[in-house]
Amino acid sequence: MFGKEVSYMPQLAFHKGDYIPLEQASVGIMTHAFHYGTAIFEGIRGNWNAEEGRGYIFRLRDHYERMLRGCAVLHLELPYSVEELCNITVEMVERCGYSEDIYIRPLAYKSTERVATLNLNNLDTGFTVFAIPFGAYMDLEAAAHCCTSSWRRPEDNMIPPGIKISGGYVNNILAKTDAVAAGFDEAILLNQAGYVCEGTGENLFIIRNGRLITPPLEDNILPGITRSTIIDVVRNEIGIEVEERHILRTELYVSDEMFLTGTAAHLTAVGKVDNRSIGDGTIGQITKELQKIYFGIIRGRNPKYLHWCTPVPKRLEKA
Ligand code: PMP
Repeated sequence: MFGKEVSYMPQLAFHKGDYIPLEQASVGIMTHAFHYGTAIFEGIRGNWNAEEGRGYIFRLRDHYERMLRGCAVLHLELPYSVEELCNITVEMVERCGYSEDIYIRPLAYKSTERVATLNLNNLDTGFTVFAIPFGAYMDLEAAAHCCTSSWRRPEDNMIPPGIKISGGYVNNILAKTDAVAAGFDEAILLNQAGYVCEGTGENLFIIRNGRLITPPLEDNILPGITRSTIIDVVRNEIGIEVEERHILRTELYVSDEMFLTGTAAHLTAVGKVDNRSIGDGTIGQITKELQKIYFGIIRGRNPKYLHWCTPVPKRLEKA
């Protein structure tokens, strides 16, 4: 882990309807979600803009819309609209007063303290959201070394990978743990059909013969918000063709460039897969250009994409 992990600002959570100190936000050990992973979570970033002296939360609405889609599948009934969830989050971050990059973690969970029930109905829904200081998740200056995992992504009719179900992340965690233990930076999971799916917390892109290629949603990937950002940006700003299609494992080995995208990982270049170099093994040219554009956008420096950025604090004090 890179970046700062210590903050001197008050850390708050919005928990059980109130803003309270993070260390006081807790749940009982019989909570259903604690036993069975019956929760939907999100990972959202607030990106500090030093010149302006405020942060920008990136695509806040889109994250909560995805979260509510997951909640519908898990019969989680939140008493808040997307609008209200956004307002709660902005207020929580504003009250914390961070002046650095942050990671926001909302969680909607089956809060009833009852075990030995596998029926999602008649269980209450809890909601909690907190933010922590969070620098880089992967080394952005380097090109990562990935392996193909021996673990496979589950299918939509197993544990749906298109929504962020807490329990489902055991799959990702097994893959990441084994990859790191074997000396790799990240694992790439294949799906049940054997096609390339995604990283443990990132979507995957390759560049071959001047085209950007990424697996389609039907390949059981998470519909990443960074993925959709990059597809838009590549079409609008770089002008190369984007193809959503199956990717074979061996195609990775012969791609010209490769990168991973995710809220935590941002846009991380991949230099090697299974001990084979991608291009010359360093960050590719198009990848580098995209990183530059992407970081401008998420820090609220690109007026064209400001509609994706929620400023916190909303208003700046006059000097
Ligand atoms: N795939 C998986 C499995 C993930 O956990 C994430 C992180 N949410 C992503 C892809 C990237 O999604 P996003 O860009 O929305 O963070």
